[in-house]
Amino acid sequence: MIEVRVSRKAADRVASGHPWIFSSDVVSAEGASSGIAVRVIDPRGRALGVAHYSSSSQISLRMLSGAVKEIDRAFFLERIAAAFSHRRSVVRDTDAYRLVHAEGDLLPALIVDRYADYVVMQTLDQGMDSARDTIASCLAELLAPAAIVARNDAAVRDREALPRETSVLSGEVPAAVAVRMNGITFHADLVGGQKTGIYLDQRENYLAAARYAHGHALDCFTSSGGFALHMAAKCESVEAADSSAAALALAEKNRQANNAANVEFRQADAFELLAGYAAQRRKFSTVVLDPPAFAKSRKNLDGAIRGYKEINLRALQLLERGGILVTCSCSHHVSEAALLELVAEASLDARRTVRVLERRTQAQDHPILLTVPETHYLKCLILQVM
Ligand code: SAH
Repeated sequence: MIEVRVSRKAADRVASGHPWIFSSDVVSAEGASSGIAVRVIDPRGRALGVAHYSSSSQISLRMLSGAVKEIDRAFFLERIAAAFSHRRSVVRDTDAYRLVHAEGDLLPALIVDRYADYVVMQTLDQGMDSARDTIASCLAELLAPAAIVARNDAAVRDREALPRETSVLSGEVPAAVAVRMNGITFHADLVGGQKTGIYLDQRENYLAAARYAHGHALDCFTSSGGFALHMAAKCESVEAADSSAAALALAEKNRQANNAANVEFRQADAFELLAGYAAQRRKFSTVVLDPPAFAKSRKNLDGAIRGYKEINLRALQLLERGGILVTCSCSHHVSEAALLELVAEASLDARRTVRVLERRTQAQDHPILLTVPETHYLKCLILQVM
């Protein structure tokens, strides 16, 4: 195995339980080529374990194991089987869920989502990408899926000098795969839809939101209608908006499949919609805010916080007394504390007194690793105007 020597700082970082080593902490990587598994050694030559090497990313190494071992089919089969077994204990009432959550399942840069009989994978670094077919063969052995899709059109692949491409590795994929989540039918476009089809990480929060939702509800950033369709049974009406026509077409298909007559989808920019309704002094009893990650990096954190604050301010202005605000952030750079603080500021500006009903996170099939803060990316607060 090729050896890569890293700095003391990198060795300390590995010792603190974080799997990433940055290029500035690589001392020598002679002979290492893109995507291979390498033996990582500290400045004194002691082995730290084995990692995938990337020749282009700022993250040069992603640790795979603290032991030096072959990264072969048996390795992937064991890790994926362990991830699958964990899902059996934490996933319920759905045939769509995340089977492998990258670092959260000790498989950095690998995402695998299951949609009923179909499997969608993303290999997001050079190492996982070169192991793509081996991983697909493990998935075939464990799940015998009708098809496996490699949904490798994610922008993060640019940093790895990997092409953005989507391919069907085995089987055939229908234009829309029907899944059932919490008793509600959703259609997922595995080849062209957002992410790997639909958002799976809010599944538990849909149920939580539905527990408090009432009256006239507004679901901004609805995508395929996850919150809106879950809240429909508890509300008089649900208005749901998104800027993406493709997402709304799926949302409408989902609405019809679930006979949700009181839900209306419309194409709109959420900032404009919220500002317009606030100016008209419209009132709602429930508002959901689930925007895309405004803070893609630490650099635009300030702008992101302003964006989150603005939509939360508007939403609070729209809420009547007793009203429910479900507000989310999927930027891992925005901590839960930061989200609580900016919503608190928004509540003061809106002259509303707000109680925290629940502080939630991503569904349990997106495991959080205690020593890897990046794995805790989704925050979801359920609040009530007093
Ligand atoms: N709540 C959804 C996920 C939302 S993801 C679910 O549970 O499935 C964020 C969504 O915001 C995407 O569907 C994207 O199309 C939409 N979006 C992005 N910018 C927007 C804007 N300015 N106004 C409205 N929608 C927007």
